[in-house]
Amino acid sequence: MGGHAPIGVPNMSRPVVATWLCACLLVLSVILPEPASGAAPRGEPKRVLLLHSFGRDFRPWSEFARTIRAELERQSPWPLDLQEQTLLTARFNNPGREAPFVDYLRSLYQDVAPDIVISIGAPAASFVQRYRAELFPNTPMVLAAVEQRLVNRAELTDNDTVISVHNDFSAFFSSILQVLPDTKTIAVVIGASPLEKFWLDEAKREAKPFESRVAFVWYADLSFEEILKRATALPPHTVLFWGLMSVDAAGVAHEGDLALRGLHAVANAPIFSFQEAFFGQDTVGGPMHSIGASSEKAVNTAIRILGGERPANIKIEPIGFAPPKYDWRGLQRWGISESNLPAGSEILFREPTFWEKYRWQVALIASVILVQAALISGLLHERRRRRLAEVESRQRLAELARVNRYSAAGEMAASIAHELNQPLGSILTNTETAELMLKSVSPDLEEIREILADIRRDDQRASEVICRLRSMLRKVPTEVTEIDLNETIAGAVGIVSPLAEGRAVGLKFVPAPMTLRAKGDTVQLQQVVLNLIMNAIDAVSDVQSEKREVVVATARSDEQAEILVSDAGPGIADDHLKDIFEPFFTTKEQGMGMGLAIARTIVDAHHGQITVENRNSGGAVFRIKLPLVR
Ligand code: ADP
Repeated sequence: MGGHAPIGVPNMSRPVVATWLCACLLVLSVILPEPASGAAPRGEPKRVLLLHSFGRDFRPWSEFARTIRAELERQSPWPLDLQEQTLLTARFNNPGREAPFVDYLRSLYQDVAPDIVISIGAPAASFVQRYRAELFPNTPMVLAAVEQRLVNRAELTDNDTVISVHNDFSAFFSSILQVLPDTKTIAVVIGASPLEKFWLDEAKREAKPFESRVAFVWYADLSFEEILKRATALPPHTVLFWGLMSVDAAGVAHEGDLALRGLHAVANAPIFSFQEAFFGQDTVGGPMHSIGASSEKAVNTAIRILGGERPANIKIEPIGFAPPKYDWRGLQRWGISESNLPAGSEILFREPTFWEKYRWQVALIASVILVQAALISGLLHERRRRRLAEVESRQRLAELARVNRYSAAGEMAASIAHELNQPLGSILTNTETAELMLKSVSPDLEEIREILADIRRDDQRASEVICRLRSMLRKVPTEVTEIDLNETIAGAVGIVSPLAEGRAVGLKFVPAPMTLRAKGDTVQLQQVVLNLIMNAIDAVSDVQSEKREVVVATARSDEQAEILVSDAGPGIADDHLKDIFEPFFTTKEQGMGMGLAIARTIVDAHHGQITVENRNSGGAVFRIKLPLVR
């Protein structure tokens, strides 16, 4: 076994294998591209120790730590070995001995000291200052997120840089009174740990100048439970100032965020705090410590130090409050007018108005409605125009029809005159006879009475002729009524019969045995029939005498009324059949070609149909169908 070479490698001695591997690596290093410069941090990892004051999740320090960590990882040109330790003693009112924790840290770091220590918060700063010689004698330190008053300047070494903040209670109280000028009481929530006691005294000192304007209530000697109880029933014009709540008077440790959320849930007054970590959920706002600004300064400093700069050379002024920020929802809830806010304030979390939220939807709906409205008004306008056009066309039709009737009357003038002559002549003869009889000695009164009766009958006949003519030529507007078709057609036949008689044409009317009720205009329908009869009379004028007959009939078929006008004339040439209803189509020398066009228009207006066909026995038959009245 031992003599066997590894699989895939030629049978070679050990030095030869080594040379061969080196050559391969060389080739690979030539073939493979260099890692892009700046892509991944290179070199030895930098060991960064983050020391927390209260624990990793204690606001507001946890927010500073989170941002510092993220920024460090983002900005560091070196790989990082981030280690975090938590100093829990700050969470007790009577902390026990620190020695075991110090021992633990010593055993961890005595061989490999961190490259930098970043303390977060005052307790951590004080701790590392106290134990720096023992634990990290040569390690540079950045004391971050610490209030300037809590930095032990006497103990600072050349290897330390301080990124401190300034808690300006006085500026903050005055900002509260500016936004809520009617405030009568400020209830201050600050816990009971040694650190909080320090801040309580500081706050009380800075509150002094305001005491003439507003009463301060201090909750430092209450358990948090009791604070919550009081917060539910605060008198009007009270505001709550959230200072710090790490440990309450009952010795219970609280995570700032959870405690504040609990207070916010029950409080009947607005809560103010200068810690940005609480802003956005529970506090109204104001001038606050900017987590971003402090963390950025701490990270910049750490990176400069890790890069070789001397900590003593980096001097950073204490960081004050950032320009004020307010939560729009808080302003609404507590009726704070935007005009009361300090100049340069930023308002966040503004809820969009209905218009801002649904701008596109509203615009879309509005434009759809507008388009619809435009369409509707366009359609209404169109309908009105159509109505007007219809009315106008009806008027034109009526006028045209009247002209057509005048022309028919003109054609009938001779026969009408003839028909009038007959009764007038008889009247004259009868009158002369009666006069002669009256001259005799004993006139036969009975005969004279009969003569007078004849005169009256002739007179009535003449006046009927005139009446029919007048009614035909009457200028009447279209009048739709329920009519008896048999009666209407009989009237038309009556009008035209003198003409037929004068032209020696037989005119026969065969009415349907039942009453045919239809809706229509009597004069117009009579005119249609009149035109058809006159055309038929024209058609049979030139044929031999036994065929000179026109038959008009009415009938009922398929729930419709039918009017037929037939003749035994020459009929209509096949290539004319489709044209004869067109205006101005005529085959007559004196013809106008409007009769059938007007007839069709009138029938259409009565919701009927007019058709024509040639009879097998010769001649044409015109058929009109009209709806019956049910
Ligand atoms: P016009 O009588 O002035 O010519 P019309 O519109 O009434 O106008 O008739 C159009 C044409 O239809 C007529 O010129 C004729 O050629 C044809 N026509 C109408 N009725 C008949 C009919 N009963 N027989 C044969 N042709 C007819």
